[in-house]
Amino acid sequence: MSERTLIILKPDTVTRGLLGKVISRFEEKGLKLVGCKMIELNNEVLEKHYDHLKDKPFFPSIVSYMTSSPVLVQAWEGVEAVDVVRLMIGVTNSRQAQPGTVRGDFAMSIGRNIVHASEDIDAAKVELERFFDQNELYSYTRADEDKIYEDDEK
Ligand code: UDP
Ligand code: MG
Repeated sequence: MSERTLIILKPDTVTRGLLGKVISRFEEKGLKLVGCKMIELNNEVLEKHYDHLKDKPFFPSIVSYMTSSPVLVQAWEGVEAVDVVRLMIGVTNSRQAQPGTVRGDFAMSIGRNIVHASEDIDAAKVELERFFDQNELYSYTRADEDKIYEDDEK
């Protein structure tokens, strides 16, 4: 089934000039970009977004990292997009992330790991609503869509 998921290109991606390379990976895979904007995060939104980590001793360092430059928030669409994107980004600790994944290829730290992606379909729904208004998400057809999927898959 076609799904939508949230990706955040974190401050290291912005400031290291890696936005284009990382975005290209998702485009070339066949996923469809359906929302995109540059924003600044703040403590309030990060406490919601990283609710599962807000009591950890390293939470302040996550906040200072995630607010150190603007970020690019994006919505990507595709069949099983949530799991596909999680596979493509690799595990949280970049040093352990498989080569070929975004974190495996571009990063060396758990605390500087390039990208956020929603963990499951429920998180994706909540996170997309957190970062995008309805009128900031788009629908369109990629010219190569019938080359990317079988007819009965879309
Ligand atoms: N993080 C960190 N140190 C840790 C665990 C997490 O700095 O020990 C940061 C890291 O940037 C990670 C984010 O907190 O991407 C969210 O953690 P989560 O466990 O949700 O990992 P993810 O879903 O991003 O792989
Ligand atoms: Mg997570």
